[in-house]
Amino acid sequence: MKKPLMKFGIRNKLIFTVLLIALLPLAFLGWQAVSDQKKIIREEVYRSHTELSNMLAYGIYQNLEFTRCLLSAIAELEVIKLLNAEVAEDFFKSLIKQFPLFKLIYLVNSQKKVIATTDPGVQLSPNWSFSNVAKRSYAGSLSDVLTTPEGNPYINHEVLIKSNERGLIGVLVAEVDLNYIRDLLRDALKHSKFEGMVVTNEGFVIARSASDSTLLGYTETQNKDTTEVRDIAGVNYLRSRVSMKKFNFYQAPDWDIVLQIPESVAFQAAEELKSRIIRLFGITALIAIVLAVLLANSFISPLVNLIDGAGRISKGDFDYSVQPSSTDEIGELTKTFDEMRVNLKNTRQDLDYRILQLSTLFEVGKAISSVLDFNQLQNMILEIVVKVMRAEKGSLMLLDDTEKLLTIGVAFGLSDEVMKDTRVNIGEDVAGWVLETGQPLFVDDVENDYTFMAIKKSNVSRGTMMSVPLKAKDKLLGVLNLSRSIPKSFSQKDFELFKNLANQAAIAIENARLYRYAVTDEMTRVYNHRYFQQRLDEEIQRSDRYDSQVSLIMLDVDHFKRFNDTYGHPEGDRVLKTVSKLIEKSVREVDIVARYGGEEFTVICPEKDGEGAMTPANRIRTAIETYDFRINGERVPITVSLGVSYYPAQARSKPELIVFADTALYYSKESGRNRASLFNPSMKTEDVQKQKQKKKAETQQA
Ligand code: GH3
Ligand code: MG
Ligand code: MG
Repeated sequence: MKKPLMKFGIRNKLIFTVLLIALLPLAFLGWQAVSDQKKIIREEVYRSHTELSNMLAYGIYQNLEFTRCLLSAIAELEVIKLLNAEVAEDFFKSLIKQFPLFKLIYLVNSQKKVIATTDPGVQLSPNWSFSNVAKRSYAGSLSDVLTTPEGNPYINHEVLIKSNERGLIGVLVAEVDLNYIRDLLRDALKHSKFEGMVVTNEGFVIARSASDSTLLGYTETQNKDTTEVRDIAGVNYLRSRVSMKKFNFYQAPDWDIVLQIPESVAFQAAEELKSRIIRLFGITALIAIVLAVLLANSFISPLVNLIDGAGRISKGDFDYSVQPSSTDEIGELTKTFDEMRVNLKNTRQDLDYRILQLSTLFEVGKAISSVLDFNQLQNMILEIVVKVMRAEKGSLMLLDDTEKLLTIGVAFGLSDEVMKDTRVNIGEDVAGWVLETGQPLFVDDVENDYTFMAIKKSNVSRGTMMSVPLKAKDKLLGVLNLSRSIPKSFSQKDFELFKNLANQAAIAIENARLYRYAVTDEMTRVYNHRYFQQRLDEEIQRSDRYDSQVSLIMLDVDHFKRFNDTYGHPEGDRVLKTVSKLIEKSVREVDIVARYGGEEFTVICPEKDGEGAMTPANRIRTAIETYDFRINGERVPITVSLGVSYYPAQARSKPELIVFADTALYYSKESGRNRASLFNPSMKTEDVQKQKQKKKAETQQA
């Protein structure tokens, strides 16, 4: 599964929440403080800016007013009123000396004639008139701002000289150099970053504090004072403009004082406060992040521990114990989770065991149900049961034909003597008790189990044991026993499995038993004729498949008719039973002994050629010849004649194999009986068959 790029888990949510709680109010307060302070600072700056502008304006106005007052005072002087040129000129000269801002002072009489002057070259302009002067006197007697050819600004101060008797007698004119205003401005703003300007209402700059001061965007005249931020050549300036007119509407000149400062400089304090608060916020945020991460970790780590455990358990690792790493609710949850894990583990073990039980039962059932050979089946059952149950000892006991005695069919971990000699009657011993009651017995500890001690002791002296009856369709077949030397080492579950295994085993045994009845001869308990034919077919097929030999021994009891006639049929039957046992004992496990019919028997010897089969044939012959047959205490010798043939080197088919063996048997009879003969082609098969048919006909007639 693709993992999301960033998981917004509880941890991140927690960090986010903590930061939100910590930083949001702080940010808000900071922002509030900055904007409040900025406003205060701004107001303060505006206010002080305006104040300074006004102070400057007032200072300049005061200076101008001073010159005006001075000139007015001079105009009042009697010596001036007398229009004495000489005295006036002297006075003017000393005045210029004392007040350098006066560049030129002269006196004009009523005839528009300059009668006294500090500069003899002075001339009145052609349009100079008394009425203009009188008009100007309302506005402080100031002329428009003029400039010298060198570009220096100046104004003319004009004061009307009046006499009580004669009225208007002349005009006192003083040329005032306005550069002093510039010096005034420069002195006032020497240590500041302000730029100051004095501007006429026509926009002419009379004075500027710095030579590079600009006065952009100043064209309109206005009568009210303003302080504002203006963009001047791409730079924001805080600019205030105050009018001098307000100090004296009639006398003050119509000039403005413009004071400007780059906004960044003006509001430096506000900017500093802002950056200080941002720095503070930054540090606080950093601390908050660290604390939030630590806090989130302390919350999350027990959860991570739990998730880690859950992850491992979900992958089936039930042995991974999750220990709570905190004492809080998560720790409690972790503890509960671990308890759940233990329960799950037990349940799974239980289930695993049940699955094992079922699969074992299925496998065992499959394995044993296919085995019909009785001995093979018993061996297999015990082998599987001992292995599955991990028992140290085990035995499979079966009821004998009388159904009264239990004998050990197969055993594991027991000595051969015990195996052979053990005969248990129903009701006796543990196995007998189990068979009698039909109840399975589980003895956890044989030394401390009252049921076990009440039963007559078996050879188990220590440890634990289980004994289960083998029962098929309510028919008791025997008992299955298992034991271990360590007490209590079988569990109740083991006992359950063992009982189930025993049920399977009993069914298989019963099936094999039924099958055995179907294929064996009732009297002699060796295979019957039908089975012989079937097996011979199979063995011939097998020899074809594996390119091996198969031999056939045929034997017939000598003069048996006579025996019957002499000792009676029942005695004959007893002999036949003994003969069949002797044959079985004389051949290998793999050889198949069958009753061919009457007192004739056959032995199929797989993987043996004729010569090879002569050995068991002779062994059978000797075993019977030497067996101590007795009737009423009297020894009655019994002999057999045998014929041997083999496939495929000799006989080419099943009928041929039988006929050849039969021919060899006939040859043995003919050669004096109590002998074994290997077929060879010189024996005349047809003759033998004819003889046999003749004898059969004779017997039928008789
Ligand atoms: P030979 O040596 O030539 O074989 O002589 P024989 O008397 O055995 O001759 P034959 O094989 O012809 O006789 C078979 C006899 O075996 C006939 C019968 O009385 C006896 N017999 C066959 N089946 C049984 C049986 O099931 N029980 C008993 N007691 N006798 C049987
Ligand atoms: Mg016969
Ligand atoms: Mg015979």
